Amino acid sequence: MMTNRISTVEWAGSIIKQNEIDKYLLNGKDFINDEEIFNKINKNKNPNAGKIRDILQKSLSIKTLSADDTSSLLNVTSPEMWEEIFQTALEVKKKVYDNRIVFFAPLYCSNFCINNCAYCGFREANSREIRRILTMDEIRLETSSVLKEGHKRLILVFGEHQKSDVDYMAEAVRTVYSVGESALKSGQPSSIRRVNINAAPMATEKLRILKDTGIGTYQVFQETYHHQTYNQVHPVNSIKGNYRWRLYALHRAMDAGIDDVAIGALFGLYDWRFEVMGLLSHTLDLERQFGIGPHTISFPRLTPASGSELSSGSKWNVSDSDFKKLVAVLRLSVPTAGMIVTAREKAEIKKYVLNLGCTQTDASTRIGIGAYSDQKTDNDIDKTQFTIGDPRNLDEVIQEVVKMGFIPSFCTAGYRCGRTGNTIMGMLSHCDEGKFCKLNAVLTFREYLNDYGSQQTREIGDPLILEEMDEIRSMDYFKNKPHLLQKFHDDYAEILAGKRDIYL
Ligand code: SAM
Ligand code: SF4
Repeated sequence: MMTNRISTVEWAGSIIKQNEIDKYLLNGKDFINDEEIFNKINKNKNPNAGKIRDILQKSLSIKTLSADDTSSLLNVTSPEMWEEIFQTALEVKKKVYDNRIVFFAPLYCSNFCINNCAYCGFREANSREIRRILTMDEIRLETSSVLKEGHKRLILVFGEHQKSDVDYMAEAVRTVYSVGESALKSGQPSSIRRVNINAAPMATEKLRILKDTGIGTYQVFQETYHHQTYNQVHPVNSIKGNYRWRLYALHRAMDAGIDDVAIGALFGLYDWRFEVMGLLSHTLDLERQFGIGPHTISFPRLTPASGSELSSGSKWNVSDSDFKKLVAVLRLSVPTAGMIVTAREKAEIKKYVLNLGCTQTDASTRIGIGAYSDQKTDNDIDKTQFTIGDPRNLDEVIQEVVKMGFIPSFCTAGYRCGRTGNTIMGMLSHCDEGKFCKLNAVLTFREYLNDYGSQQTREIGDPLILEEMDEIRSMDYFKNKPHLLQKFHDDYAEILAGKRDIYL
């Protein structure tokens, strides 16, 4: 027992490499200047309508906004102007991403953790939490269960612990990719085609190990960008207590060759306006140091967690009305980033913010360890990290999304064809990516309908696909690319005939 404890402490002591923080600093400082953020928010109070409309135009030309622009948006008070902001947010999303909504599911692999984040059910001091780490056999079972819903993308989630170190993560990724299932309705082969990771910050050499397993996106949320609050909710003697180690986690990922990186803040720990400015600053620093911004931005709101008073009683909890504002401002501030709304949110909020420019969401979500194959696990708050607001299954959420005029997509072609990092960012900012991916959205939604779609989903999904195909044929972008259009029609015919996993 004692030896184990010492080795865990030694392990923890070996994680942080100071030189892998210092190399990214500018004159010894990190890129979050708290005072400057407050100054920007104060300086840009009472923006007039003309100024706001100019900013909306800048966003519509698919340019990352400046700190002055974003803080002006955050200071809007008129309800009518907020309506304009909301409408423009969706317009920007349509320009960049067309009408696609990408689906994924989270897979929680382990709730062992050596940190003590005040808001999280997994924290070490929470003796109520029942600890479990999945074996590779269990990961296979979980993957099979998720595949039965129709998913093609997973994000693996881990607490920070020696038991779930990078070798465990790498094996988990390879295990997920190795699982094959037969689709429920058609019997066609089905497998997970993109595995993303949400895990604690790592050193560059460890990130290279993850890169080699073929992960898609590496996601780390800063939780709060406000230095003082960060120190209050993350004990200083824990690994996570090192603000800068976390702040530069995605810079190191870029250096390790993982160029699809995902940022996020946990809204409810501090002032939401400050966090939006923090996410923008993070984007600007990635752009400054690597020439590209984040692949996605997440904005989880604090939800009740086992044994955490803060998680249900924070004075900074964000109201639904402010949540809508922050989603719209983020959409406008970083037009090229994907935006993820998760099942932490209730169905009606999710629906609302999908109309403000979100691009991805999860469904059929289970966050207990082993909860996809053993559904009892999920009802117990002491076996999960927090509580979820939208327990609907994938087919139900797909029906809603189709009725809203979006096309569900299971496309994973981007990173498999090398459209990552700079390449994809270039395509996004020229608004080419949205059109191109529309083709893959149609192909993968066709697969879903044939393989997993319920009768009701097919009734609304089949006509949607025909409409999308008509639209594709009428678009100038494709008229100039007859070979691409032909290949798309050939692929579609092959999918109808039973072939799977073909993409452009
Ligand atoms: N242990 C890794 C880390 O901290 O980076 C993995 C992350 S944790 C399992 C995933 C994310 O869940 C955290 O980064 C945090 O933003 C979010 N989270 C933690 N507690 C939460 C709560 N009570 N409500 C909503 N989200 C929470
Ligand atoms: Fe551990 Fe992550 Fe939860 Fe913090 S947020 S206690 S690091 S699992």
